Amino acid sequence: RLNRHAGSAKTFSTSPSHQSVMQAWVIDKYGDNSVLRFTKNAAFPVIHYPNEVIIKVHAAGLNPLDVNMRGGYGAATLAMKRDPLNINKSGSEFPLILGRDVSGVIMECGLDVGYFKPGDEVWAAIPPWKQGGLAEFVVLSANEVSHKPKSLSHTDAVCLPYVAATAWSALVNTGGLNKDNCSNKRVLVLGGSGGVGTFSIQLLKSWGGHVTVTCSQNAERLVRSLGADDVVDYTSGPVERKLQALEKFDLVLDNVGGETEKWALELLKPWSGAKYVTLVTPFLRNTDQLGLADGMMRNAATIATKALKHLTKGVHYRWGFFAPSGSALDDVSEIVDAGKIHPVLEEKFSFSQVPQAMQKVEQGHARGKTVVTVA
Ligand code: NDP
Repeated sequence: RLNRHAGSAKTFSTSPSHQSVMQAWVIDKYGDNSVLRFTKNAAFPVIHYPNEVIIKVHAAGLNPLDVNMRGGYGAATLAMKRDPLNINKSGSEFPLILGRDVSGVIMECGLDVGYFKPGDEVWAAIPPWKQGGLAEFVVLSANEVSHKPKSLSHTDAVCLPYVAATAWSALVNTGGLNKDNCSNKRVLVLGGSGGVGTFSIQLLKSWGGHVTVTCSQNAERLVRSLGADDVVDYTSGPVERKLQALEKFDLVLDNVGGETEKWALELLKPWSGAKYVTLVTPFLRNTDQLGLADGMMRNAATIATKALKHLTKGVHYRWGFFAPSGSALDDVSEIVDAGKIHPVLEEKFSFSQVPQAMQKVEQGHARGKTVVTVA
């Protein structure tokens, strides 16, 4: 492996592309699926910083966040991230390109990039404040990008980056699990049949954990095929009762939210460092509605109150978040090439069918991932 953090011994920068526009699906305002617009005149991405790379997109992946962002979710908060000094006028994010996963080929590297060179096959999870993968090209920081698993096609690879980076951040960085300490840990994955769930089951099994999953009855075969040890159907009677009958857990990963918080922490082993990590949080909704300062105050107050309340009962309460990380994807790539994690591709759409792909994600009931082939 090349060292990701070593400086560039040799700089790679092809001559700037002569292209100034590209094909992309964009939105010009927030709304329902009708705001999606195909264009051949989207601005070609530009390298602004020496650590950036331009990727020619072969496949893009969709996530529930794309549907939410299309409707304006996170708009105020992401605008602050894109334009911290508030120089641009409101709406300057448009035309906005969605699509949080990308698999493709490096086309151009900034002068400081030593870890990649043009022609490398790569994958990445695209942070929500950056232009997405539903386009011919995308520009990202090299530290967000990773060499894609050699054993996967672009279409299969693109099922993984965003859910992998999210699960990694939640399970490893927030939950404290890793390949050395996971053996025989009991983990409960609430919502095991979607993108994050299907990845998390496989990651935890590859590390020797014991995995219990909740899902609909018709997803049981899928989650068992990925390695789930115990499966609990949440559609037939109160799921919490069935879970309470099981041995307690070291970690709960919550991909469902809502009412789950009311009972899920009681399923943890008390006074043993056990953690509940939820991915369904009011974080962006608060900062959207209250502004950055007040929203962050509300977030801090909410998390502190809940964490303290549960700490007195001997368990830890945490919010989990997606975090872009090329180095986490490097590790995932190795596990995938070792045959221990397989992408779960539910449905593949062509580049002309992006509205249908988005509609599929919006309908929910995912059984793995929805992807779009671009090149
Ligand atoms: P998906 O849409 O891919 O999967 C959700 C899955 O949950 C579906 O398979 C659905 O199937 C199942 N499900 C729905 N209700 C329940 C329930 N009550 N119990 C068990 N399973 C249920 O979503 P992702 O996996 O991509 O994401 C999961 C959640 O995490 C989403 O809410 C997403 O917004 C959030 N998220 C948050 C991030 C963050 O940074 N905080 C990052 C990434 C995701 P069915 O309805 O048929 O049962």
